[in-house]
Amino acid sequence: MNLYFYENQVNGVLFMNKELISIVLPVYNETAGIQKTIDVLLDYCQNRPEHYELIFVNDGSTDQTETILKENALAHPSVRLVSFSRNFGQQLAISAGLHYAQGTAVVVMDADLQDPPSIIATMIDKWHQGYDVVAGQRQQREGETFFKKASASLFYRLLRQITSVHMPLDTGDFRLMDRRVVTVLNQMPETDPFLRGMVSWLGFKQTTVHYVRQERASGETKYTLRKMLKLATDGLVSFSMVPLKLAQWLGGLLLLGALASLIVGVVNGFTLGVEIALFSLMIGGFILITLGILGNYVGRIFMQSRGRPLYVVSETYGFDEQITPQHQ
Ligand code: UDP
Ligand code: MG
Repeated sequence: MNLYFYENQVNGVLFMNKELISIVLPVYNETAGIQKTIDVLLDYCQNRPEHYELIFVNDGSTDQTETILKENALAHPSVRLVSFSRNFGQQLAISAGLHYAQGTAVVVMDADLQDPPSIIATMIDKWHQGYDVVAGQRQQREGETFFKKASASLFYRLLRQITSVHMPLDTGDFRLMDRRVVTVLNQMPETDPFLRGMVSWLGFKQTTVHYVRQERASGETKYTLRKMLKLATDGLVSFSMVPLKLAQWLGGLLLLGALASLIVGVVNGFTLGVEIALFSLMIGGFILITLGILGNYVGRIFMQSRGRPLYVVSETYGFDEQITPQHQ
């Protein structure tokens, strides 16, 4: 069966005269809800005309997630598991899933049922109409904190202002991509990928479908504030030079300020000791901030230049040995 599957993929499109769609799900410590997600997805797939493979990428979970996924990979031919040796982050987990996916279209979604499977059908319809990328655009977000909604909204708007890549507002990683998009993405080995930006950067024919982002079916968000900040920095730094230019503007502004205070100082016979000291402190702060920004870019050059693998796969289940691609 796997050989069939392989040949059909190599030859193009069909699996037993059905399209093969891969669903990629990054998973980190989702013991509480992962079985439900698998059941809901298997049920969804059974009632669809396409053939499906579910690729779960276990991103170094420390709970029972891996065991549950293994059992399912052994029990269901369409469930596959790629397990990381440690936590590498959701973006790299998705990247790995894209490498292992065999489908003519690949859907990426959260493993917590926040992205409703029923929307996949709408995405497939759009794909059949000729779109290469169909992104889920959140109309509404259920059960998320005000801070999360407000910061996400602000971030997407800021990103739109300062990057030249047109990224649709309020889209996460829930999207369908045609095989040719995935092929190019697989050739973009970035150490800190910001996939939604990379997909927009690629071009092709893209569209969005609206959906209501559900409340998490169970468990807590795995996106700590730290992880959110890292993702936001990855997005800003990989798609914009504006933070670097900030140093120039700040420098110019400060120069003007320094000149002004010099003039005021001369006029007042240099009695403005405290003000000038504070001003120097401020300049010190700005210099450190801009150095930090510079460090962010330089650090990324360093990370990328070392050429280490982007992630390390410890085990895979449910794949045919022959067709398991090499990890990056
Ligand atoms: N996730 C992951 N690695 C991480 C953090 C999260 O693979 O380091 C997974 C997580 O299990 C979920 C998806 O990425 O399937 C999105 O995370 P989460 O639902 O916690 O984020 P939120 O939806 O709250 O933004
Ligand atoms: Mg989620």
